[in-house]
Amino acid sequence: MNEANQSAARVRGLSHFIDGQRAAGTSDRFNDVYDPAQGRITARVPVANATDVAAAVAAAKAAFPAWSETPPLKRARLMFRFKELLDAHSDELAELITRDHGKLFADAKGEVVRGIEIVEFACGIPHLLKTDFTDQSASGLDSWNLRQPIGVAAGVTPFNFPMVVPCWMFVMAAATGNTFVLKPSERTPSASIRLAELFIEAGFPRGVFNVVHGDKNTVDALIEHPDVAAISVVGSTPVAEYIYSESAKRGKRVQALGSAKNHLVVMPDANLDQAVDALINSAYGSAGERCMATSVAVAVGRIGDELIERLAPRVRALRIGSGLEPDLDMGPLISAAHRAKVTGYIEAGVAAGATMVVDGRGYTVRGHEEGFFLGGSLFDHVKPDMTIYREEIFGPVLSVVRVPDLASAIALANAHELGNCVSLFTSDGGTARTFTRHIQAGMVGINVPSPVPSAWHSFGGWKRSLFGDHHAYGEEAVRFYTRYKSVMQRWPDSADNSAGFAMPAAA
Ligand code: NAD
Repeated sequence: MNEANQSAARVRGLSHFIDGQRAAGTSDRFNDVYDPAQGRITARVPVANATDVAAAVAAAKAAFPAWSETPPLKRARLMFRFKELLDAHSDELAELITRDHGKLFADAKGEVVRGIEIVEFACGIPHLLKTDFTDQSASGLDSWNLRQPIGVAAGVTPFNFPMVVPCWMFVMAAATGNTFVLKPSERTPSASIRLAELFIEAGFPRGVFNVVHGDKNTVDALIEHPDVAAISVVGSTPVAEYIYSESAKRGKRVQALGSAKNHLVVMPDANLDQAVDALINSAYGSAGERCMATSVAVAVGRIGDELIERLAPRVRALRIGSGLEPDLDMGPLISAAHRAKVTGYIEAGVAAGATMVVDGRGYTVRGHEEGFFLGGSLFDHVKPDMTIYREEIFGPVLSVVRVPDLASAIALANAHELGNCVSLFTSDGGTARTFTRHIQAGMVGINVPSPVPSAWHSFGGWKRSLFGDHHAYGEEAVRFYTRYKSVMQRWPDSADNSAGFAMPAAA
């Protein structure tokens, strides 16, 4: 074997990150991490057991008293240094993401930028933690409130955004004075370890941010640990709902973001060039493995035939290959098992009678024959009772549903059990306003596909796409990671000393 082949065949050993350093853990269970473009194992990641989880939680608990007392401005200064390090290491982080996940390097760079934007927002934490004060809310009495950190928080993240989703959590948790234990996806674990190392290099105290790898057993140990006060999870709806209910039962604060089935409605008056570009990017970008991907195009009125005519050649022409190569449109799927699942959905669509316009099955990339590739697929005349309409596919498959008018389009999307994001393409302001007001989804795009809110807004769906109250990042994250305390204060020299038994009122 020559040197290049030897290094290609090397399998990296990954570790946890506990109390400021890499830690092997005590478990003898491991998961394989693949390079999806090669279909080859590139790393082994340990699966943390309850002892490993307890070590990470203990480190976070020990760090909490000093960290929560650290003035917000000092926390912000560390965030500025963390941001500089992320900028300096952005190519390295993007490459780790591409190697574990398969997404295009340019797409991974975009993810790194979105992660950095969360850090930039967190740099303003002194301002975000400012609260309200009422002078003289009653005679000689002032009222004010403060927001205090909740303690040790934990996060469980999905495979498809190995950097940005962890940043939604640990960055905002740490900025608000909490300490954190992250359980990243066992399929894309590499970036989280590098983030933890850079966090320490930025000067954050050890124990503020810990990483334990693992699976359901690891998550259960976090849920059951009495010192974990809050859990954020982003994943599929069954997993989000499970973690939500098990954690809430134990009195923990929970935020659980789940699956998506995003509709993009095209009105007859839409700019069709823009709508088609939007559909191609948002349905097939990152091989459809985004919770903000469009998976249903709703063609209103007579626009359906022209939409299909324009989409089909674009889907056939998608350039697919290894994410590290230039000038491509999409990479492989995350695993052979996931490709088989997506292929199963395509078969179900054919069996249910949907019109298969482009069939992506059996796609291979020369030189990457073992990679988990799948071509883009396009279905027309999809009906709401078909499995390919009802269920999240999470692959490069777009379904076109035809409806007669705007009201039917809104009713269709509203009847779906998931409501992450939705888009409308139109040239009419009144149509856009009606749609925005009546659609039941957490994020809305008007002539914008995949409307991911900026770091200073907040991210989350409705219906079975989110369990819990708060959305992720932005000011919602400040609320999620802090407890509200109301204070009323009066000083002896301003007090009315008479004892009264009536309900006090402002006077
Ligand atoms: P997943 O639900 O399989 O796993 C998510 C996380 O939960 C992983 O860390 C995994 O180890 C853990 N997990 C898996 N099974 C578990 C169980 N039974 N009990 C406890 N923990 C468990 O999701 P995935 O395949 O990694 O990611 C894709 C899914 O995530 C899609 O459904 C996608 O829509 C969703 N997602 C949602 C958002 C959002 O913001 N709403 C963002 C990204 C991804």
